[in-house]
Amino acid sequence: MTTIKNNLQAIQKRIQVAAHAAKRDPADISLLAVSKTWPASVILAAWQAGQKAFAENYVQEAMKKIHELSDYAIEWHFIGPIQSNKTRLIAEHFSWVHSVDSLKNAQRLSQYRPETLPPLQVCIQVNISGETSKHGVSPENLEILAAQVKGLPKIKLRGLMTIPKATQDSYQQQQAFRRLRELKEKLNGSMLDTLSMGMSGDFEAAIQEGATIVRLGTAIFGERSKGQ
Ligand SMILES: *Cc1c(COP(=O)(O)O)cnc(C)c1O
Repeated sequence: MTTIKNNLQAIQKRIQVAAHAAKRDPADISLLAVSKTWPASVILAAWQAGQKAFAENYVQEAMKKIHELSDYAIEWHFIGPIQSNKTRLIAEHFSWVHSVDSLKNAQRLSQYRPETLPPLQVCIQVNISGETSKHGVSPENLEILAAQVKGLPKIKLRGLMTIPKATQDSYQQQQAFRRLRELKEKLNGSMLDTLSMGMSGDFEAAIQEGATIVRLGTAIFGERSKGQ
């Protein structure tokens, strides 16, 4: 369990170095721990090491952990594909959703968000690399979706998220992230302040291009077991 603590410290250091190289304030970059496949005990170890925001991809799996960890002040983020029959659970149990890519699901999230909770913080997922296997709205359809989502009562549109095509080439990584930044800038009558981009293999390139939330799993917890 001390490895998680060490990993978190090493990552915070890398975030600082990347931020300084980009002439940015490291305080403007938050680390989101992607805990899919890992049990509550592992999440708790990271929490005890100071990590407070965690992200899950699958509602069923997440619900179990959210209940197990209900005594701890954890900010839960949903980053997986949204099935419409799961929108109620997502709206009730998460603070953030990074993967909104249709008006229908955004409407349902708004409709089911309990009155007692603050608005759901939302990013629209954009399919930058155009891979058909990827979720996300196309860059062409982003502007209209953003305008529609902004009008929903129990949702606060914060920004954009992307999962670019996996590549080791840092130039290509950077191009994809730059694209997302430019799309956000084009929308910025909308006062968006969030770019959710960068994973374990490419977060430094994402910080270079303006990431405000990096989503890391492997770098914190180690390799996920196969088939998950
Ligand atoms: C799994 C996942 C991550 C984390 O990926 P790592 O490479 O393990 O850091 C980030 N974002 C999304 C949407 C994911 O599904």
